[in-house]
Amino acid sequence: MYVISLDLGTSGFRSQLIDLEKNETVKTVITMGHPLPGGNVMDHLDFAMSTGTDVAHRLIIETVKEILDKFDVEPEKIQRIAVCGNPIQLSLFQNMEIRDLAFAGENKQESLGVRDVKRDARIFPANELFGDIYPMDNCEIVIPPAIKHEIGADALAMMLETDFIHQTEPCLVTDYGTNAEMALKIGERIITASAAAGPAIEGQGIACGILAGPGAISDINVESGHWRLTVLDSTMNPGKGPLVDPVSGETIEEGELVPKGITGTGVISTMALAIKEGLIEKLPKLPNGKLILGDSIIITDQDVEEVGKAIGAIRAAHMTLMVESGLKYEDLRYSYMSGATGTYVDANKARHIGSVPGFSKGIIQFGNTSIGLARKIAIDVSKLDEVIAVAKRIHADHLMMATSETFKDIYVCELSTWQQGMPAEMYAQMLEMYGIPVFPQDLEEVEIERRVSRDIDDVGYLGLDIVTDIGITLEAPVEKCTLCHQCVEECPEDAVEIVEMDGQKSVYIDSQHCLGTSCRRCVTICPEQTMNHSLLKIKDI
Ligand code: SF4
Ligand code: SF4
Repeated sequence: MYVISLDLGTSGFRSQLIDLEKNETVKTVITMGHPLPGGNVMDHLDFAMSTGTDVAHRLIIETVKEILDKFDVEPEKIQRIAVCGNPIQLSLFQNMEIRDLAFAGENKQESLGVRDVKRDARIFPANELFGDIYPMDNCEIVIPPAIKHEIGADALAMMLETDFIHQTEPCLVTDYGTNAEMALKIGERIITASAAAGPAIEGQGIACGILAGPGAISDINVESGHWRLTVLDSTMNPGKGPLVDPVSGETIEEGELVPKGITGTGVISTMALAIKEGLIEKLPKLPNGKLILGDSIIITDQDVEEVGKAIGAIRAAHMTLMVESGLKYEDLRYSYMSGATGTYVDANKARHIGSVPGFSKGIIQFGNTSIGLARKIAIDVSKLDEVIAVAKRIHADHLMMATSETFKDIYVCELSTWQQGMPAEMYAQMLEMYGIPVFPQDLEEVEIERRVSRDIDDVGYLGLDIVTDIGITLEAPVEKCTLCHQCVEECPEDAVEIVEMDGQKSVYIDSQHCLGTSCRRCVTICPEQTMNHSLLKIKDI
């Protein structure tokens, strides 16, 4: 019999097939993108609320079915699927209420009748979700509990899978992703938060960015005066890429691996090196407006701004947690980093550009904690009881960054730095003006411990399989369409098609590649105002 662990991430899904008798990983499948339109979890929430949770749920279930197809095992041999993710992804997967996650105020929630939505642990037959498209008669689905409704199973995984939960000294844990989950522990007190970092932190939304996967530039180091690229191989291990001159674009020496694009950690390395090597005199301007890392792999000034928004949001949220909790910056002992970005990043470069506090005395790097927790529960479902017991013991408070004045003030300083090159002295003056303690200097040297070499430690004896193109199309009628094709030309992702069939005009949208709420350019440009994303349904597959 087999079990499956499934991590429903905001930028893509990761899943493992495990042979239960042999306790051995068979195969890992990842998707290079999320099936819902949008670049972050709030876009997904907005899509589900405007287009319909039934459509959002179906998109997720169809994508999981593609993953199950890739595992290529008889469905009756699948005994259990344990699933981890943030509350929005897990709710959409189960087709549960989500409106409470969109409205923070209790009065608003009460007026909608959506207060006290329970997100307890659940075990239920897989056929409740998959019965009509992929019947698994012997399979149960296991969902770990949320700590509170806004502090989900992914945050729980981040605390449990690292040793954060047992730390007695002040420590910070961050699951780096488009929505960076984080928690600060001071004694028995835990304060959680999340920062909408945006897609650049995972290598998306920038010119040549790709998610962490084979061919992604994951790190860069100076060698003989040039830049040596580190590239992920077919099993997600970092390997030797080419040696390049980032200003001229010349390849000085070929590597063992050919890069296809750059992921979030590679972008962090690029920024840290460009600043350290004096290639950026004043943010965000690069020499000649770009850095060249290989054939058609460039980093642009605009990318620098995108990265700045992501790093700035994470840094502002870290600092806000410390300021609001009353922790002196200097008392922070450990920072735990998880997720692909937390795993592959060079911690010193992350310190240098501020994605992890430079004054933290120790940094510990973990892999993908969500899939790690899902895997443990999939193999031994009795572990769920332990997880439930820990979740009940955790008394966590959640700090909403969206309503924090401290976050807003620090984020303004971050944006001024990344987008207008504001010097450090002025940053400190602005903090003083806002009444926020000025950040200390980065420590010269700190303890750095990388506990895993890959974000998924063991991809299995059949290796890694990647779903590059999820291939689900959404369609909606565009009755007043004049076939002007302005929407098609305007779409930055080539995700729109206008089709006329039997006198009916429809828009087809590639759900994976559509940027959703954060774009809407096809809607805005339509002269007939006939494009309406809330009418989208899944086109028959
Ligand atoms: S233009 Fe429309 S279809 Fe294209 S990415 Fe933007 S919202 Fe999606
Ligand atoms: S912009 Fe509007 S009218 Fe023009 S093709 Fe698109 S849907 Fe039709």
